[in-house]
Amino acid sequence: MSEIRHDLLEDKYIVIAPERMHRPAYNMAWKKEHNPSSTCPFCEGNESMTPTEIYAVRDNKSLSDEPGWKCRVIPNLYKAVQIEVPYRSRQEGIYNAWDGFGAHEIIIDTPDHLNCMVEWKNETFLIWLKTLQNRVKDLRQDERIAFISIFKNHGPFAGATQTHPHTQLIGLPVVPRNEIDKYNRMFSHYHNTSRALLSDIIAQEEHDQVRIITQEGTFTAFCPYASAYPFEVMIAAKDPLGTLDKIDESHLEDLSRLLKIIFHKLRAQLGNFDFNMSIFVPPMQRQFDTDAFFDCIDEMSRFNIRIMPRIYRHGGFELSTGMMINPVEPEQSAKLLRDTEYGEL
Ligand SMILES: [Zn+2]
Repeated sequence: MSEIRHDLLEDKYIVIAPERMHRPAYNMAWKKEHNPSSTCPFCEGNESMTPTEIYAVRDNKSLSDEPGWKCRVIPNLYKAVQIEVPYRSRQEGIYNAWDGFGAHEIIIDTPDHLNCMVEWKNETFLIWLKTLQNRVKDLRQDERIAFISIFKNHGPFAGATQTHPHTQLIGLPVVPRNEIDKYNRMFSHYHNTSRALLSDIIAQEEHDQVRIITQEGTFTAFCPYASAYPFEVMIAAKDPLGTLDKIDESHLEDLSRLLKIIFHKLRAQLGNFDFNMSIFVPPMQRQFDTDAFFDCIDEMSRFNIRIMPRIYRHGGFELSTGMMINPVEPEQSAKLLRDTEYGEL
């Protein structure tokens, strides 16, 4: 029987409709079709094809914009927003606009074109996380940047146009409305209960024991109650760790280990699947609309990563209502992932 479930964090309704389930044609062709060529600007050796690097984790003797890196950050050539434009807003009659100010960076996850996240080692995850950490820390110094979105699109179903493994970071002078709403909801929960909403969600999951996949240190991996996507996984911290740029090394090691386990299990179930991924970064600056909760962000929220496998395309219902239909029950996804044996690859 189908069910309409409420997502407490996002305040959205999701239709869980298992009767719609059919074995999809997983998109296995992404990697096979691809022929890494000398024309990929993200491959090691082609550094001159990209704008000057912003940051890189490198071997000791290697130089900027030359081979010898493990993870490399560059400005996006096709940027949605630019750091160079003046930071100002203007009124146009009843309308209000900002000049397209912001940061748009590409994190080239690895020098190897074919090293997809599903195949990463613990160390690859750790270097990637540390690179993201460095970028957030650095951009936090820029008071004009109010909000950072870090996300990953992998595969054509997820909207990726570049096959080389990469992550994107967009820093904006405003906090998106749905993010403000989300933090206000977390704040009101915290105000009423003195607890973080996400830590209550984890406590509920620990009580129910049907959607948890596995735990590592402070991190719990589970399929959210109102998962919008089949095999959606959330990894969330129980402890108030602070934001990404303040998480210490031992927690990052736990997180790397857990990410590796989860991607191994997802690949065992879905093959070489397309996915979107979002990494939690709360608002960066105190502003009019973040002022109420800014001082207690660490207490009221929890670090989390959301992995959203993209197996089905969305249709008119999703577009017109904003309600997603998920044909796989999260309890079923969690059981399959929990039961998938994990061994070193
Ligand atoms: Zn490449």
